[in-house]
Parts: sequence; C-alpha cells; structure tokens
Amino acid sequence: MAKETIAVIGAGPGGLTSAMILANRGFTVKVFEKQDVVGGRNARLELGDFRFDLGPTFLMMKFILDEMFESAGARSEDYLEFFHLDPMYRLMFEDFDLTFTDDRERMKEQIRAVFPGREDGLDEFLRKEKARFEHLFPCLQKDYASLRAYFAPVFIKAIPYLAATRSVFDNLKRYFEEEQLTLCFTFQSKYLGMSPWTCPGTFSILPYLEHAYGIYHVKGGLSEISGAMARVLQERGGEVHLGTPVEQLLVDDGKVTGVELQNGDSVPADAVVLNADFSQAMCDLVPAEWLRKWHPDALKKKSYSCSTFMLYLGLDKVYDMAHHSIVFAGDYRDNLQDITDRMILSDDMSLYVRNATVTDPTLAPTGKSAVYVLVPVPNCRAEIDWDSERQTYRDKVLDRIAARTPMTDIRDHIEAERVITPADWESEHDIYEGATFNLAHSLGQMLSFRPHNAFEELEGCYLVGGGTHPGSGLPTIYESGRIAANLISARFGVPFPAPPPLPVAAGP
Ligand SMILES: Cc1cc2nc3c(=O)[nH]c(=O)nc-3n(C[C@H](O)[C@H](O)[C@H](O)COP(=O)(O)OP(=O)(O)OC[C@H]3O[C@@H](n4cnc5c(N)ncnc54)[C@H](O)[C@@H]3O)c2cc1C
Repeated sequence: MAKETIAVIGAGPGGLTSAMILANRGFTVKVFEKQDVVGGRNARLELGDFRFDLGPTFLMMKFILDEMFESAGARSEDYLEFFHLDPMYRLMFEDFDLTFTDDRERMKEQIRAVFPGREDGLDEFLRKEKARFEHLFPCLQKDYASLRAYFAPVFIKAIPYLAATRSVFDNLKRYFEEEQLTLCFTFQSKYLGMSPWTCPGTFSILPYLEHAYGIYHVKGGLSEISGAMARVLQERGGEVHLGTPVEQLLVDDGKVTGVELQNGDSVPADAVVLNADFSQAMCDLVPAEWLRKWHPDALKKKSYSCSTFMLYLGLDKVYDMAHHSIVFAGDYRDNLQDITDRMILSDDMSLYVRNATVTDPTLAPTGKSAVYVLVPVPNCRAEIDWDSERQTYRDKVLDRIAARTPMTDIRDHIEAERVITPADWESEHDIYEGATFNLAHSLGQMLSFRPHNAFEELEGCYLVGGGTHPGSGLPTIYESGRIAANLISARFGVPFPAPPPLPVAAGP
C-alpha cells in the first residue's frame, strides 16, 4: 500500500473525487477547505428550515458518479437516494411550452404537438449524436499531459466527429430545421456558460446525454453527493479540515513540497491536488515567479464563461410547477448577446426555476417549498455595479417569474431569501471574474490547451475542477478527479484499473 501524503486544496467535487479514490488506494489524504462546509459550488445552502443546492441541480451521466464511488471501494446507492426525473424539464417560450422526457416515443409526441412533422428529427439526432458521444467521450477521459495524446488511436478515430468548426446551433439545426425547436436542444450550451451560436458543435453531445442517460435528482439535493464523498474519504482514513484556508503552495526548485495554511502551519506533502478555482488559485496560491503560461497576466487574456445571478427562496406554499423549468427570453439570441458580447443586463432575460420540493419534500417544511432561480448574466468583466443592481435586478427577476410561470403571486409567499450576484461569487466563493463555469470551453481552451491535470508549471501539483481538463459540469469534473488520482497513483507505482466501457445507452 502507498504511504505518500497527498494534500488536497478545496473540498469541491473535483477535490473530493481525487481524495476518496486516493484514500482507497492507501495514500494519506488531507483535504483543506476554506469554507465551513464541503462541496464548494456543490455545497448545501440552508435558510432556516429550507434547504437548497448552492450550484448544481442537474445530475447527468449518473454512471460516471457511480464509477467514482466504485473506484473508492464504495457504492453510490449505499450513500445516496437517486430520483430519475421523468419528465426531465419544461421549456417555456412566450408562445408555447414543451415538456421534455427521455422516453423517446413520448418525446416525439410532445414535439409533434407543437411542431407537427418535425418529430422524426429526434431519431436522427439520437443516432448521430450517439456516435459522436461514443467517439468523443473516451478522449475526454485521457490526460493531455503531452501532445502524444493527439496521436492515440482513440483520438484519431474521434476526429471526424469533432464538429469543431460548426456551432452547436448550426450542428443541431440540421436535425430540427425550425429555429425554436432547435433552441430546445441547444440551450444546454448554457450549462457551460456559453451561447449555442458560439459554443463548438462538439458539445452537441450535451442534449444527447440527457436523452440517452436521463437526468437525476438526489434526495436532500445534489450537495448530498459532496457530503457522501467526504464520508467515503473519512471512512478510508482521510482527513477533511473545514474552515482551513490554504495560504500558498510550498515550492522548492520547481517542485511542490506541501502547502502553507493561513494559520501559519506548513503541511509537507508528496503531491498536491489543487481544486480551488484554477485562475483564482494561480493569482492567489502559487508564487508568481513559478508561472509562465498560466501567469496572472496571461490569464487576463483568456476568455471566461458567463456568471449567474441567483435567488434562493423559501416559500410558504408549494406551486404545481415542474421540478426544472427554463423560461426563454422573447429574443433569446439577443439576450445571449447581452450576456456575452455587450456585457449588459437584459430586461428580457431567460431564467431557470427549480421547484424540487415537488419531487423531494425533504427540502422544506410540510406545505412549503425551496425554490432556486438562476439567471445567466455577464461575468465581472462587465461594468455592472452589483451593489446598486442587487435589489433592482432581484425585483425584475421576481416580476418575470410572476409574469411567465405559474408562480404568479410568488412575492406574497416569500418567507426566506438569499441573493448571490457575480460579485459575490468572486469575493465570497473565490471564483475568478465571478465566471461560475470557469475558463470558456472554446476550441483554444480545450484538451491540451486547457490546464492539464498534471500541472505543466510545477512538478508534484495536480489540477482538478471545472477550470481544468476535461471541463466544467459534474461528470467531467469527476473525470478530472479520477485522471489526477490515476496520474498520482502511476507516479508512486500504485496499480489502478482503466475506466470501464460506456454503458449501453438509448438510441438506435
Ligand atoms: C450556479 C451553478 C449551477 C451549476 N449547475 C450545474 C448543474 O446543474 N450540473 C452540473 O453538472 N454542473 C453544474 N455547475 C457546474 C459545476 O458542476 C460546479 O460548479 C462544481 O461544483 C464545480 O466543482 P469544482 O470541483 O470545480 O470546484 P468548486 O465547487 O469550485 O470547489 C472548489 C473549492 O475550493 C475551495 N477553496 C478555494 N480557495 C481555497 C483555499 N485557498 N484554501 C482551501 N480551499 C479553497 C473553495 O472554497 C471550494 O470549496 C453549476 C455551477 C454553478 C455555479
């Protein structure tokens, strides 16, 4: 068994994944988390008796999460109760609504009801995007520590499926033709904080994943996943130190030797896993003299995702509304241009409302509900004064919800409330530019152009989380954690299995 000590900075999904896998392989694992709770953006937020997820609410590719638990010698279902969501979500446009399900025949009926004659596009979409996903996903599971990865057979076979020169919108319009129907399958680019008109067509696999493998809720909220990972880690002897911020990496001659905590203690380590937001960590935790490619000056020139304006509302009633609803702006494209190009706040905004209490009553006292609202907005590069906008925008968002959803009298039912603005994400959650979905997933910032899981600039430092390869979103973040754990295991001669093949998915 390994005896080396691994220090992990940050108890977000990426850090916890690496930590529990490494602890199961016999490493001595010490996690240092700045906040008083585990989970990072995937932490639990409580307002009195109301329970919310701070960030993630859609669990996709559940099988990847299951594999992570298996790599840590555990079974996810022994720690978590999963709900397969059917329907998956309701999309609300000004002139029609559409309910999405991962049941193919019912989904075709839904499409037929609003876009008669277009329903067969679904078969073509599932067939072609299945092939794309099955070729691309194994590439995302590799580390891109050297250019050799581009010559691996798995990557060469995937090249025809990259669709990198087309946008997600252009790629998927070929199946659905109608602009609004296409939007129903392309809004998922927002999961990466990008617009479907600029997001590389490679990410057309995102909507496919929903239809092929479904969307899940976890009883108590998705933050329970982070809590469960921390328990698995501790059961294997790992330590979790909450409220313990790291001050900086200790570096000797280009090699990381441990971490210095803000309380002044030094913790020697044979390797360090860095899960803190990548760009912010480069500015705060790594002495700048060691950085070249990822120096803070270089990071200023990179492109970043949008941010989110959040409302967490404890209501004294339960609305009869879907678990997940997405309300589209009247002019969705213009709304996205406001967010990413003009960098201004849209009055004609799109928003996402999560009414999870209809599935999971544990989130609020009986007869009440915990409602989570996410509005995509520009990141902190925009000249928006969030101190003055906080209340004004909150009011506009509530007006929008009242006007466009069944929550018409929502203002009369608010018992508890919390707002998070992009400025809060930056200052309270240490997220660079408040860009909640990290470095943008543009072609020049993907694969080997994204920060490698074995950090190129410092020996013994391993990077995990949404700002690193393979990218933002829980399944890929879990993959970053597994890749880093495997790189560390290989370095210290600890054997480990290759990721299992993809499970059988829906589709022709
Ligand atoms: C609002 C929102 C909604 C999202 N929705 C979804 C969704 O539905 N589905 C999905 O798959 N993904 C979603 N995501 C994206 C992504 O899954 C989450 O952001 C995820 O939590 C990011 O994980 P991470 O490993 O990058 O680390 P983070 O969650 O960012 O965790 C990093 C940790 O490092 C800690 N840290 C920072 N500095 C220090 C320091 N100096 N010392 C010690 N600790 C430190 C932080 O406190 C934090 O706990 C969403 C993100 C947001 C923000």
